[in-house]
Amino acid sequence: MRRDNWALSTYNPAMAEKIQVKLGERGYAVQIGRGLAEDSAAVSGSAARVIVTDENVGRLYAQKFSQMLGARVITVPCGEGSKSLACLESVYAQLLAPRDLDRHTVIVALGGGVIGDLAGFAAATLFRGVRYVQMPTTLLAMVDSSVGGKTAINHETGKNLIGAFHQPRAVWCDVAFLATLPEREYVSGLAEVVKTAAIGNPALFAMLEASTSAILAREDEPVTRMIADCVRFKAAVVEQDETETTGRRAVLNFGHTLGHALENLYPNRWLHGEAVAIGMVGALRLSAERAALDPVVAERIVGLLRAFGLPTALPPELDADAAADVMLGDKKRIGATVGFVLLKALGEPVALPCAVDSALLQTLLGPHNERA
Ligand code: ADP
Ligand code: ZN
Repeated sequence: MRRDNWALSTYNPAMAEKIQVKLGERGYAVQIGRGLAEDSAAVSGSAARVIVTDENVGRLYAQKFSQMLGARVITVPCGEGSKSLACLESVYAQLLAPRDLDRHTVIVALGGGVIGDLAGFAAATLFRGVRYVQMPTTLLAMVDSSVGGKTAINHETGKNLIGAFHQPRAVWCDVAFLATLPEREYVSGLAEVVKTAAIGNPALFAMLEASTSAILAREDEPVTRMIADCVRFKAAVVEQDETETTGRRAVLNFGHTLGHALENLYPNRWLHGEAVAIGMVGALRLSAERAALDPVVAERIVGLLRAFGLPTALPPELDADAAADVMLGDKKRIGATVGFVLLKALGEPVALPCAVDSALLQTLLGPHNERA
C-alpha cells in the first residue's frame, strides 16, 4: 500500500476516471484518481466555502484542505451518533453564527458516509439549499453513498428518517485517502463493491476474483478501476430513479433486507458492509431456491466475500421470529411481504416480494450448523 502523503504533484491524469451523472441541471461529474485537489479549488469560484468533517479525518486532512480551498472547518465527533438532530443543530450554529455565509456558499463534505449524509442534509436545508461537494474518504462512501444525492440524519425511532434528495455539485474520490483508512473499514466497503459486481457487472466480478490481493493491498490501478465501475453502475441507476420512485433504485438493496435487520438486532456488532455481506449470503440462498440462481455462482460470490475477509455466517443465537419482526418493520413493507432483491445470474437482479413465513426464514437464515 502506498503511504506517501497525498500531494498535488502525485496527480496522475492517466489513472484518473471521470464519470458524468446525467441528471439535467442537477447533473455532476464524479472524479476518481489520486490527487484531484486542483479541481477542488476551481469548482466553487469565489464563493465562501466551509468544510464539514469528523475528528479522525479532520486530524489527518482538514488543515491541508482548509488552506487549499480557503475554507473554514466545522468538525463533528466520529461515528453514526453524529447523524443526529443535536449534532445537526450544532453544525447549523457553526455555519450561521459567524454570519459569513450566504446562499452562494459551497459546503465541502470531507469524510465517510456519516459526514456525507450530515453535511449534505445541512446543505439541502441551509438558506433553503446551498451547493455542496462530496470528498469521500472511505471506500464505502466512494463506491456508494457519495453518489446519488441521498442525505439524512437519524431519529430515535429509526435510521435516515429525516432527510432530503439533494445532489452534490461534484464528487472527488481521491484514492490517496484510502491509505489511512483502518483495514476493517476498507474491507467493509468491499462488501458494497461485491454487491455492485454481483448485481451489475460480471466483468468487475471477474476482476475482483483475479485481483483480490492487489485490491486488499489497495493498489491504485485496480482500486481506481473498481471504484469507477461501481460509480458508473450507481450513476446509471440514479439516472433512472433519482428519488427512488420507479423502483429501479431498489436493486441496490441486494443483501440489505437481512443486512439492515442484523444491524437493527445487533447494534454496533458489525460495520454496515459486514452486515450486508452476511445479508447477501442469505439473499443468495433465497436466490438459488426462488430465482433459479446456479448454486455454483452463489458459491463463487460467497467465496469472494470470504477472500476479502468479510463475515458470511449468521450468529448462532439469532432468533428467526425476531429477524422476521425487524424485516417486517422495515419501511419497505407491503402487507406481510417484504421486497427482496434476488439474483437470477451474475449481473441479473430481480426484485421479488416475498411473504415472510417459516419457509422463507428457513431458506434465508440457512442451516443452524452453518452459523458462526
Ligand atoms: P462510512 O463511510 O462507512 O459510513 P464513517 O463516515 O462512519 O463510515 O467513517 C468510518 C470511520 O472511518 C470513522 O471513524 C471515520 O472517522 C474514519 N475515517 C474516514 N475516512 C478516513 C480516512 N481516509 N482515514 C482514516 N480514517 C477515516
Ligand atoms: Zn449499503
